[in-house]
Amino acid sequence: MLTLDEALGRVLAEVPSQPIERLPLAQGFGRVLAEDVVSARDVPPWNNSAMDGYAVRSADLASGSVLRLDEVVQAGGHATRPVGEGRCHAIMTGAPMPVGADAVVKVEDTDGDLTCEVSGTEVRFSVSPVPGANVRDQGEDIAAGSVILRRGERLTGPKLGLMASVGLPEVVVTRRPVVALLSTGDELVLPGEPLGDGQIYSSNTIALRGLLEELGVTVLDAGIARDTRASLHERVSWCIENADVVVSTGGVSMGAYDLVRDVFVELGAPLDFWKVAMKPGKPLAFGWAERDGRRVPLFGLPGNPVSCVVNFWQFVRPFLLTLMGAAEPHLPLVSAVVLEPIRVRPGRLKLLRVRVESREDGVLGVRSTGPQGSGVLTSVARADGLLVVPADCAGLAVGDTCRVQLTNPSLLARRDPVPIS
Ligand code: AMP
Ligand code: MG
Repeated sequence: MLTLDEALGRVLAEVPSQPIERLPLAQGFGRVLAEDVVSARDVPPWNNSAMDGYAVRSADLASGSVLRLDEVVQAGGHATRPVGEGRCHAIMTGAPMPVGADAVVKVEDTDGDLTCEVSGTEVRFSVSPVPGANVRDQGEDIAAGSVILRRGERLTGPKLGLMASVGLPEVVVTRRPVVALLSTGDELVLPGEPLGDGQIYSSNTIALRGLLEELGVTVLDAGIARDTRASLHERVSWCIENADVVVSTGGVSMGAYDLVRDVFVELGAPLDFWKVAMKPGKPLAFGWAERDGRRVPLFGLPGNPVSCVVNFWQFVRPFLLTLMGAAEPHLPLVSAVVLEPIRVRPGRLKLLRVRVESREDGVLGVRSTGPQGSGVLTSVARADGLLVVPADCAGLAVGDTCRVQLTNPSLLARRDPVPIS
């Protein structure tokens, strides 16, 4: 049996790269950048005011506190003349600094009224600003010629905002891979249909679909194959023809109807390995099929709902993110302390489903999600992470330090909302 790291090493040994495409910024969310992004311009493009107030010569306010108002500069406009000695311009946030002025005093620190008449108005100041006060310098956010985003970064809203701020209308990203999802099993029925004798509802495809959509791939639902060579052969061939990556669930263990491995091999995908020393999720079929000059990776995940999702996180997720060129294809691995005793039988590496809590002292703590059988889907549905229990470990006591893969980092931050201010 391979260790988890050895198996992952094989899965990631020869990941091809996805073709790249150019898209409008508005379609870039969640995509992976295929090249570094360089700004052609400074942001801000010129020195400008950070406040609604008065643009002044700071030296003038060291000696006196009254200046005469000359004009009003709004965002989108510009001053028509320099600020002379003993004078000031009213200025709005974002408006370019007038020549001559070196500081802005906010309106609250004056007796002024920004809507006032200009002619003959005097403004009284209650502070003496230092040079540069309330001025945003040209290029202080982004300098022209600098790299603002790196190839391999996944685009978030703020990153797309950054590109917009330097005037870039398009992103160059890797294409979404098409991932075919196939369930296998004579016992499976879709929700909404009546359950016959011995049948169960299929949950794997929809569980994996959600996880795949989070990664930003295109999902192709290949339905349910029956446990016959003919049905599997037809469905898996269809997947190979129509997708960049094939993910099936079920039919990879030792049962009499577990034919997925055989069918993968018949379709030209010699299996690289199929047993991994981990719990849950021991059986996993992985190989490459050749079709019309394309090499299509096939993942045969176990059918047990927990093993299926855990294997997805360990192998399919990092494979797909690497394929998409992501710089960080792995789940974050963090340190945490154990909040309640955990007993396990030594033997294989275990990945226990846990809830992750942020304790008052800032340390992360973990607690089991409950019964950990490989069919207990609630254990996964309630989990924020996978507690990594080494093969030789017989248990963990309260307060022990452990390692956790975060599967749902967005949820754990505010489990018990603590007021910030
Ligand atoms: P298998 O690997 O095909 O032997 O399946 C192992 C277990 O997982 C069996 O109890 C199956 O009924 C169950 N199973 C397989 N596929 C699914 C699915 N799509 N949804 C829910 N349970 C499944
Ligand atoms: Mg089956």
